Amino acid sequence: MTSERRPVMLITGASRGIGAAIARAAARQRYDLALNYTHSVDATEELADEIRSAGCRALPVRADVGDEAQVLQMFHDIDRSFDGLDVLVNNAGIAGGYGTLDTVDEAMLARLWAVNVSGPFLCAREAASRMRTDRGGRGGAIVNISSKAAVLGGSGEWVHYAASKGAVDTMTIGLSKELAPFGVRVNGVRPGLIESDFHDHAPPGRVERMAPMIPMLRSGSADEVAGAVLFLAGPDASYITGSFIDVTGGR
Ligand code: NAP
Repeated sequence: MTSERRPVMLITGASRGIGAAIARAAARQRYDLALNYTHSVDATEELADEIRSAGCRALPVRADVGDEAQVLQMFHDIDRSFDGLDVLVNNAGIAGGYGTLDTVDEAMLARLWAVNVSGPFLCAREAASRMRTDRGGRGGAIVNISSKAAVLGGSGEWVHYAASKGAVDTMTIGLSKELAPFGVRVNGVRPGLIESDFHDHAPPGRVERMAPMIPMLRSGSADEVAGAVLFLAGPDASYITGSFIDVTGGR
């Protein structure tokens, strides 16, 4: 009896928060997983063990997505462990320092663009070159984790972060057109106010303060973002590319 090939998904920033929730949801849908992280070794190893216990394969891969050499090494490691790649979830992202325009400086911006913009571009380049049907691939899907901030422009603060996600949205639209003829779909998910360590970069209590301003009067969970990502990654979205799902409680 031959075992059925499971699709392979790479999630960047999979150690915790939204990325870890996507990984757990993907394992429930029988994906094999490459779990990227940059610092959280123990959390990623624990998550990988959990996924293996559920019967799927899991490969923790350390790489700073803002560093091209590390991205190349990550894809090399994935090539050695898996038979191709079906889905890339560009989830890794940083806040880039909380604050208003006065707090912005060149070093902060350079790091923000490297992780939030160059990272998704470099990972998309490597993933697409493996997925494209004109290059021997099976086709595939890229899901970019943007933010509702890309549309709102931030919340009177954190505009630099919002601008980095605006670039992710533009990239999503453009790459969806460039890659559509070659069997690669590219879509985006825009989370709103989601509970995670991300808000540790802001003054304490920000999530609680902002929740009443959300039409649904609450913040969202990482699990609630994961469902939208899995939909866009999978066969039910086979005719969807260049689209976005806002997971914002109506914001
Ligand atoms: P989080 O809890 O802070 O987790 C960030 C993840 O990204 C971690 O796994 C971290 O790995 C990884 N990471 C950070 N820098 C990296 C780098 N240079 N290379 C590789 N991995 C890196 O954040 P989150 O809330 O889950 O956010 C996930 C995504 O959703 C981000 O793109 C964020 O902008 C977006 N988002 C979040 C919200 C929200 O309200 N939470 C709203 C809108 C959009 P380590 O653990 O190893 O550091």
